[in-house]
Amino acid sequence: MELRLKYGTLRLVHGDITEQRVDAIVNAANSRLMGGGGVDGAIHRAAGPELHRECMEIIRKIVRLEHGNAVYTRAGRMKERGIRWIIHTVGPVWRGGKHGEPEILERCYRNSMKLAREIGARTMAFPSISTGAYGYPVEKAAKIALSAIMDELEKHEGIDEVRMVLYLREVFDTQLETLRELGSGN
Ligand code: ADP
Repeated sequence: MELRLKYGTLRLVHGDITEQRVDAIVNAANSRLMGGGGVDGAIHRAAGPELHRECMEIIRKIVRLEHGNAVYTRAGRMKERGIRWIIHTVGPVWRGGKHGEPEILERCYRNSMKLAREIGARTMAFPSISTGAYGYPVEKAAKIALSAIMDELEKHEGIDEVRMVLYLREVFDTQLETLRELGSGN
């Protein structure tokens, strides 16, 4: 499904983010940019060791990436697939929802898109941040993710397409339902 907003298109895809041909992919990283399981591990494997080196250079300067913030690196071997940048953002760990989790998650999407505009990425892909190891409920996360992306695409020029790439079928189905609800008012 896709939804056309003022400045760009939001598209939902069931698949693997490392296989998308877009200018930038977003990584659900951890604050030490260490690489780990889930989508982070898949991105590091696909990019190769150069990505880890670049991440460690960033950590030498900033020590840790705070939840909700975003930085970018090059894409290592994924360059061969047409991916130019990886935007790393750290989602909130779900602790019941009253510890600022929704605000942090929203900032992950908005800050990643802001960074994409700054570096000139015109197409980008997001995973469903925080809904794996960090435990954020999928439906709540879908509402925040899609609303934030839609709002950014209504307000700011620069990104032609944002793809939400959902790896698990049930997460894709939830996002689809949520987008239908949000998009019907559009
Ligand atoms: P977090 O720590 O932010 O929860 P995870 O990587 O554990 O990050 O999970 C985030 C989401 O990414 C989950 O919905 C998971 O199913 C999904 N995911 C895992 N591998 C991939 C992949 N290769 N492409 C896209 N999404 C993926």
